[in-house]
Amino acid sequence: MNAPRTLNGHVSHWFAEHGPVTPREPLIGDATADVCIVGGGYTGLWTAYYLKKAVPFLRITVLERKFCGYGASGRNGGWLYNGIAGRDRYAKLHGKDAAARLQQAMNDTVTEVVRAADDEGIHADIHRGGVLEVAYTPAQLTRLKAFHEDEVGYGDRERLLLGARETAERIRVAGAVGSTWTPHGARLHPAKLVTGLAAAVDALGVSIHESTPVTEIRPKHAITPYGTVRAPYVLRCTEGFTADLKGLRRTWLPMNSSMIVTEPIPAELWETIGWDGRETLGDMAHAYMYAQRTADDRIALGGRGVPYRFGSRTDNDGRTQPATVDALREILVRFFPALARTGIDHAWSGVLGVPRDWCATVALDRSTGLGWAGGYVGSGVATANLAARTLRDLVQQDSGQGTATELTALPWVNHKVRTWEPEPLRWLGVQSLYAAYRTADHREAGLRSAVTDPIARWADRVSGRG
Ligand SMILES: Cc1cc2nc3c(=O)[nH]c(=O)nc-3n(C[C@H](O)[C@H](O)[C@H](O)COP(=O)(O)OP(=O)(O)OC[C@H]3O[C@@H](n4cnc5c(N)ncnc54)[C@H](O)[C@@H]3O)c2cc1C
Repeated sequence: MNAPRTLNGHVSHWFAEHGPVTPREPLIGDATADVCIVGGGYTGLWTAYYLKKAVPFLRITVLERKFCGYGASGRNGGWLYNGIAGRDRYAKLHGKDAAARLQQAMNDTVTEVVRAADDEGIHADIHRGGVLEVAYTPAQLTRLKAFHEDEVGYGDRERLLLGARETAERIRVAGAVGSTWTPHGARLHPAKLVTGLAAAVDALGVSIHESTPVTEIRPKHAITPYGTVRAPYVLRCTEGFTADLKGLRRTWLPMNSSMIVTEPIPAELWETIGWDGRETLGDMAHAYMYAQRTADDRIALGGRGVPYRFGSRTDNDGRTQPATVDALREILVRFFPALARTGIDHAWSGVLGVPRDWCATVALDRSTGLGWAGGYVGSGVATANLAARTLRDLVQQDSGQGTATELTALPWVNHKVRTWEPEPLRWLGVQSLYAAYRTADHREAGLRSAVTDPIARWADRVSGRG
């Protein structure tokens, strides 16, 4: 059971630790801009940042419903890593070379975020310890080896495949039988990154209006209760909240992910765990977990809670179900039995955007000036930065201030996908999918077979992921 002392919701531990936010002034009346960006998360803010750096005289307005970082950008697991949703599908659609270019761009993006944060003096507890993903059942080990081979095939030559002993030399996860490690990842403090980025964007002369909900986006218009911003380019950077916008309910499914953070863990317990390299840590379960060792020696750990709310409802300031908190705590103790008595200080959840084909996209419709980026399916900390630099190039190309670039030629640009099914099919589909993944994990742990459970393979196929 999670103790009554566990704070629940209040956006996230990252913001609770960071201190209260005073929102910037809302929009007051109609306004004009050259580019209007809807949403003040990593996607919107990085886009404003790179556009303003490229063309300093551009008048850019960011409209944010609550405050910058209120969404997933202020709530995530702080894995800055090179994974991108949809790479393998893009390989099928556009060929392996195109997908390899996308992967290389993602590898470079990890370095770019670290560089830009450094340049702007953003102190976001960034530690470049790479990513360690562990297996603790025979079926997970089979998937891990296949995953490792795939990544090496995409050029990740520094990636290591580690046995049980080498894994334990890094992090002593109970029962781990192997792992794969890549240097293309870093741990960071999400709220420090997003608030620092908002301050940098502000300082560049971008107008950021907070407490300003956009109710509808039309070509050249972003409509709010306080006035309309008219701009030749309106860029939608609302990711998991996109379903709230008029006409976009079935575009990207708002999927929940939940997190817990422990109290600071004393040195003697760290001696039993290891984790001196501060790698971000994940596993190969179907209902996977992700974790980091924070700068102040806590463990922040996340996974799937109640995956989806009926009707694409999105948020209640990050409050999460007690059963989810218990489930995450069980994973923590299953990984690190020495933490059985460690307190959980905070639990929260957030939404991420899932397209019908689980492929991240960035796009600019040249006939309307409407652009968008997202559908990152939970791998958005680095991807949002690549999307932002791509939106910059697309806007510059369209406005005649630039030409096609390596980024505008990547296979995820202007990718089209059908919308999700109407309710109740959407709700039933997602519930069954995650029930199937949980069952598959359970059976794999029980049967000790080295083969992925057929229920998970079925779920991959029907969901469009396989
Ligand atoms: C719990 C959790 C853990 C995660 N962990 C990781 C991780 O470790 N690594 C990783 O790579 N990815 C992770 N992700 C995903 C990643 O955080 C997101 O993909 C990324 O932050 C998306 O950034 P964004 O700017 O596109 O969207 P968001 O950060 O969600 O920002 C959208 C912004 O738009 C605003 N907005 C929404 N609607 C409107 C409107 N109508 N009008 C005005 N403003 C609006 C919102 O308030 C919000 O601030 C995680 C996500 C969650 C929820």
